[in-house]
Amino acid sequence: MSELLFRDDGYLRSCSARVIEADAQGIKLDRTVFYPMGGGQPGDTGMLRLPSGRAIAIVDTVKGAAADEVIHVPAPGSPLPEPEAELVADIDWERRYRLMRMHTCLHLLCSIVPGAVTGGQVSDGRGRLDFDVPGSSLDKEAIASRLNALIAEAHPVGPRWITDEELAAQPDLVRTMSVKPPSGMGRVRLMEISGVDLQPCGGTHVRNTAEIGPVIVAKIENKGRQNRRVILAFAE
Ligand SMILES: [Zn+2]
Repeated sequence: MSELLFRDDGYLRSCSARVIEADAQGIKLDRTVFYPMGGGQPGDTGMLRLPSGRAIAIVDTVKGAAADEVIHVPAPGSPLPEPEAELVADIDWERRYRLMRMHTCLHLLCSIVPGAVTGGQVSDGRGRLDFDVPGSSLDKEAIASRLNALIAEAHPVGPRWITDEELAAQPDLVRTMSVKPPSGMGRVRLMEISGVDLQPCGGTHVRNTAEIGPVIVAKIENKGRQNRRVILAFAE
């Protein structure tokens, strides 16, 4: 089990850590700033820097079998660190920040389009959500203009914790049908965009919608009779 520093502060780029275990599968640390793939957001990439000056390139980060277990996947052929080794974990911040901006933008999209979310994915520079909406009622330009307005309005974004009971009493909060929020731990972490969106989410987000910057609706695809895929990209 690892201390997940990105959970409380998505802006941390680096931390010191100790190696718990390292094998062909990957490297486990006692604490980490690396976000493991989940909730439609890709795992972080970056470097593990040893005191000797040696650096291990991390090409992906995934969840382990146990709760809060994070596996840092080294580039093929990388030498592995010894257990107990102290190191510095550095994420590729430029890439992560783009992922945070796009991830937060998908929350805005979710608030604009009526209909349940059936899937979603953030990739570097792009993001998409699938909506359960009939017909071809979605208008590309209208969605883009509403999105850019919400971005420019500079809404604060932040976590809010509620109890399992409070969540059960407000099932409308769960927009993403494909991803059930983790419950049974007594409390659930929600992401709130003040006045715009509130839903359970474990991903990383920017602190203010203004940080997202201008976006475009690149495409709206028909994925089956009821399913519409809205694909976003950064305008610049
Ligand atoms: Zn989120």
